[in-house]
Amino acid sequence: MSYVLVINSGSSSIKFQIVDPTAGAEQDPLASGVVEQIGEASGSITVKHAGDKTKKEMAFANHTEGLTTVIEELDAIGCGPAQVELIAVGHRVVHGGTTFGEPVLIDDAVVEDLKKLIPLAPLHNPANIDGIVVARQQLPDIPHVAVFDTGFFAELPAAAATYPIAAEVAEEHQIRRYGFHGTSHEYIASQVPELLGKPAEDVNHITLHIGNGASASAVRGGHPIDTSMGMTPLAGLVMGTRSGDIDPGIIFHLLRTADMDVDAVDNLLNKRSGMKGMCGSNDLREVHAAADAGSEEAQLALDVYITQLRRILGAYMIELGRVDAIVFTAGVGENDAVVRADALKNLEMYGIVIDEERNATRGDGARLISTDDSAVKVFVVPTNEELAIARKAAAFA
Ligand code: ADP
Repeated sequence: MSYVLVINSGSSSIKFQIVDPTAGAEQDPLASGVVEQIGEASGSITVKHAGDKTKKEMAFANHTEGLTTVIEELDAIGCGPAQVELIAVGHRVVHGGTTFGEPVLIDDAVVEDLKKLIPLAPLHNPANIDGIVVARQQLPDIPHVAVFDTGFFAELPAAAATYPIAAEVAEEHQIRRYGFHGTSHEYIASQVPELLGKPAEDVNHITLHIGNGASASAVRGGHPIDTSMGMTPLAGLVMGTRSGDIDPGIIFHLLRTADMDVDAVDNLLNKRSGMKGMCGSNDLREVHAAADAGSEEAQLALDVYITQLRRILGAYMIELGRVDAIVFTAGVGENDAVVRADALKNLEMYGIVIDEERNATRGDGARLISTDDSAVKVFVVPTNEELAIARKAAAFA
């Protein structure tokens, strides 16, 4: 059996999975886990394998130590590179800029090009590159493949990708809508035609990828025509800790009047906003519980969350003209029946009718939650970004 090691290297964490790229979405990865709190005084590594989960507390000075430990721990459970046939390493890279759309086989020149993209994603790409450099040192004999979060949206129509600012400034600073979560949106787009029993070119759909990060896409015939994240993953829907769309004038107002510098405003909008900023928790389970217990802040936060979802949904329905399906995915989309029902409430005149019982019934795989006669089919489809990355990386093996 051949496997792909999928690495998602963040600023203080490394998530990893060993995936069979030929197996379906229902597979359990051979092994998976996460190294957390890299660079801090105390950290941990968690490894899941064959139904067991072990967590060890230890400090990691940097990504090299983190990934070395990952490989040692995989060796210890019989899943190391010498024990299983690893045919490729797939690296999640957040920003491909205008340089990269499709996945690319990583060599030294690609690493240099990735470094040039750091200004576009200063919070994400440096950690992605660290992961790539270290993994190439540790596993030099297998192909390493970069899969870009922006990739699926590389060919957004110009009208959707262009920001209405001075053209020469946009050009010089590579300012455009890139979109993110592309691996997930593309994966879902690959499932919808099958769920509808229609050829991909005939399917128009909207995907709501709502987890801690959240983004929507409008897809026509398999090609995205719009998406809610922008030049950065800060735009669009209300998220766990990110604001999503706000009036850009708010930033100047804060810089001028709130004794905040650029980094403080960046931190505010990325880490202290969204659901957490409005009501103290970015976990929707806690927010619902607080609202049910009478918290007005939690209820208002939910109302803002739903209002923004419906704004973007409405925009994409008009952009697409005809919508065959709406798909919910990621942590909130897959699990939160209340958010799904509220997001699509009272849309009967647009052909959208949720079946309450189907919506309330939990399930593992892809499932229909609209009524049989709803003109627009509504689905919950679990996303699987690691499998999608593994499949793309395996193509280079
Ligand atoms: P990330 O963007 O970090 O990948 P996920 O897609 O894993 O996030 O989503 C995590 C979020 O999903 C949690 O913060 C929580 O708000 C939400 N979530 C998870 N399970 C449930 C549930 N049963 N009900 C409501 N929300 C849930």
